[in-house]
Amino acid sequence: MAKILANIGKCIYCSTMEGPLTKEHIIPNGLSGPWVLEKATCKRCADITSKFEKDVLRGLFIIPRTALRLKTYNPKERPEGFPLKIIKGGIQKKVIIPIQEYPAKLSLFITDPPACISNIPYEKGIIVTGMCRVHISGPSVEEFRKKHGAKKVVEEIVYSTNFARMLAKIAYGMSIAQIGIDNFEEVYVLPSILGHKDDVGRWVGTAEDIILGNGKSTGESFHIIRLTIDKNYEVQTRIKLFATYNVPEYIVVVGRVKSMDFNILKNLMNR
Ligand SMILES: [Zn+2]
Repeated sequence: MAKILANIGKCIYCSTMEGPLTKEHIIPNGLSGPWVLEKATCKRCADITSKFEKDVLRGLFIIPRTALRLKTYNPKERPEGFPLKIIKGGIQKKVIIPIQEYPAKLSLFITDPPACISNIPYEKGIIVTGMCRVHISGPSVEEFRKKHGAKKVVEEIVYSTNFARMLAKIAYGMSIAQIGIDNFEEVYVLPSILGHKDDVGRWVGTAEDIILGNGKSTGESFHIIRLTIDKNYEVQTRIKLFATYNVPEYIVVVGRVKSMDFNILKNLMNR
């Protein structure tokens, strides 16, 4: 069930108040994200954000979304089978495998931490340093390989910065829900969300530790977002997608708030 966290009344990306303004899922509906901001995005900005979200939902996350039966706006278009490349008799060929028989894995990128925290020299984009892959349903790759008499199963993953942009958008949306859009002095992640700048790795990255725990999540969602404000008034969020699995946590340094309601600030600073 969608849970409305705030009604914004202007586009959270370009600030226009001219409608129609539509709701914004903080975590995409396609990942069964429950939290919604009402009247929060204009059509022009929604076109930009839905483009990179779709790329992630239909690319990197299509297998886990189907295997775990996460939400979709088009249930009838849910794929029945997925392509997989196998090497058999020295020849590589593509086979289509039903999801029940597919060695389904959840794949999450491991990247450098946000450059603004790590102080690693930064140029552009985001540096991927590894991959976290968790088996979630169907046979293991080894079982699959044996069953199909294949020498090798080729698992391809294409990386783009869209995954990191999606994390930035999730963090920004939750920050607005909890802090209020008018309390921001500067939003660091906006240019990369809107595609005006290729600097997402400066603000988004993988945490070097795990503090949200493994195998646990709140009853509301199996994704976890936690927000803190540091002494420089910088808003930092920690995101754990698919939090019931042993997966990395991401950090997004969203922006800086101006002086705001002391009680909200105190609450967030003490976490
Ligand atoms: Zn807009």
